[in-house]
Amino acid sequence: MIANYHTHTMRCKHAVGSDEEYVLEAIKHGYKVLAFTDHSPWPLHPFESASIRMDISELAEYVDSVQLLKKKYKDKIDIKLGLEAEYFEDRIEWLVRMKELFEMDLLVFGNHFHRAISYGTYYAFYNKPDQVLNHYRNDSLAGLKTGLFTIFAHPDIFARSLRVWDKKAEDMSREIIICAKEQGVFLEFNLGGMRSRAGYPYLPFWKIVAQENAPTVIGIDAHSPSDLSDIKSIDEAKRILKELNIHVTDLITD
Ligand SMILES: [Zn+2]
Ligand SMILES: [Zn+2]
Repeated sequence: MIANYHTHTMRCKHAVGSDEEYVLEAIKHGYKVLAFTDHSPWPLHPFESASIRMDISELAEYVDSVQLLKKKYKDKIDIKLGLEAEYFEDRIEWLVRMKELFEMDLLVFGNHFHRAISYGTYYAFYNKPDQVLNHYRNDSLAGLKTGLFTIFAHPDIFARSLRVWDKKAEDMSREIIICAKEQGVFLEFNLGGMRSRAGYPYLPFWKIVAQENAPTVIGIDAHSPSDLSDIKSIDEAKRILKELNIHVTDLITD
């Protein structure tokens, strides 16, 4: 791997290792680019919690930490600042402002939740299976069309909530894949899902990516520095993508 655009930090409460340990591991294994894209905070509704993301009060310190590392290691690696964020229509303007205010290099679209953060609205275990396709489609298209995001993380995360993979699922997948391609957003083959056997990457989805020839990156989705050097999952991903005849972009240039 030359670049990884999907790296978390301890602030999200389910990752380990210091920020610097991620950088050192990346340098040790020959990465040229490492983007920190931790789970974005949001101004929360009273019924929501920040249990799987940084608190909003931690954002400035996160930015400082990444900027400091960017300077410290500038001769060894290109460190980028970003966040992985959902599309929440009622507060997307806040995200736009934060991206500008902190001069973020990129945002990764992690379409985890429908409208609000809760267990039932998590797209991998959606509480309304008959509506998952429709809701996921709408949120995906709206998020992709904001122009805010560089990468669409685990775009196939919804597949786990489906009872069957049918024509409707295929059509919806094709629609969001084509939209990503039109918007110039990279689809991410997610190694976090692969390492934890989470039901994604879901190969029927990736067969459509291959047919549509949509831009693709591999994302480590690192929640531990050692994920950056997990050769087993990286090699497995490369083998699968090669078999599917999907071209992988190693380095995103502006
Ligand atoms: Zn995470
Ligand atoms: Zn994610």
